Amino acid sequence: MKNNKQQKQATQIIVVGSLTQLLTCKIKIFLKSLYLALFHGVPFRPSMISNSPTEYIEPKITKFDYKALGVLSKKEIHLDFIAENYGFEGEIINSNSFTNIFFQFPDNSKIEATVENLKSAQRNTVLGNENNSICFVEHLLAVINLLSINYYEALIIQIDGQEIPLEDGSGKTWKNLFNEHLIYTKETEKLPKRSDCIHQINLQNAFHVSDKQNRSLVAIPADKFKMSYLFMHPVTKEKQWVSWETDDDINLLINARTFASTMENEMMGVKGKVLSYDQNGFDLEFRHEHEPIYHKLLDLFGDLSLCGVNPLYIKAHFISYMGSHSLNTEMAKVIKTYIQLARS
Ligand SMILES: [Zn+2]
Repeated sequence: MKNNKQQKQATQIIVVGSLTQLLTCKIKIFLKSLYLALFHGVPFRPSMISNSPTEYIEPKITKFDYKALGVLSKKEIHLDFIAENYGFEGEIINSNSFTNIFFQFPDNSKIEATVENLKSAQRNTVLGNENNSICFVEHLLAVINLLSINYYEALIIQIDGQEIPLEDGSGKTWKNLFNEHLIYTKETEKLPKRSDCIHQINLQNAFHVSDKQNRSLVAIPADKFKMSYLFMHPVTKEKQWVSWETDDDINLLINARTFASTMENEMMGVKGKVLSYDQNGFDLEFRHEHEPIYHKLLDLFGDLSLCGVNPLYIKAHFISYMGSHSLNTEMAKVIKTYIQLARS
């Protein structure tokens, strides 16, 4: 009898304890969501409250900084990265209308990394609002999406300049920085397995964009994300196709440096840091075979992320015929419209 009473009491304690835990968990996520909405302009998402507390990942804020010389301003640029955990797998993909990446300026205005904020795609990808603009966003955005950081995180990048430091012209600096400071970045590379992600965007139609120089970019339905680029060697004019798909090594893209003619790079003051070419070919040894072509794919990937969904989750084959930032961002607009229509 006594045993039964004790058992009943124990069960009551467990039930009350579990309910309290569940309630606390929900309140914490609710408050976190409200905090992000009020102080960081992140759309409020009550849907972040899940019925299953087991899916919950403890929210945390990680802040780290980085500084480097801006190649355009020739000034030191300070960047503060504030990574905030959203809590649930899948929410970001389900939301589709925001990328969870924001650039914040000293006047406190923010620019979200979406194609609506595109200001220019002439030589690099530039986002802007009324008061500020930010150049060279494509390599950083590519790395954030390749590492799937924004699958779990909102990233607020506070910056006191109008450009992302070019560094060696690849995404290597950013990958190293995230690996050093975001402890679960390594986890996100193995969970979820990128090719098995259940929150994928199915493309039902093919899309095509082109320009007056006969360059073009098409997207055709596929069973997973893939991109191919037709490259014309700037010196020999030889043409070559290179492809990358979700199960390939992300470092092929991340480590690939940008390139330009020796004259252009000398003017920019980056000769010797990025790849330069003249009539004799490229000046530096490649990090891996086809490095310049993989860089074109890195650009494509970073620009496509402006559609509001991590490109890794778009089941499509993007085929670029000597495409550029302007075609890449044009395609991001098309894909964004398609996703919005498909979900409305
Ligand atoms: Zn680039």
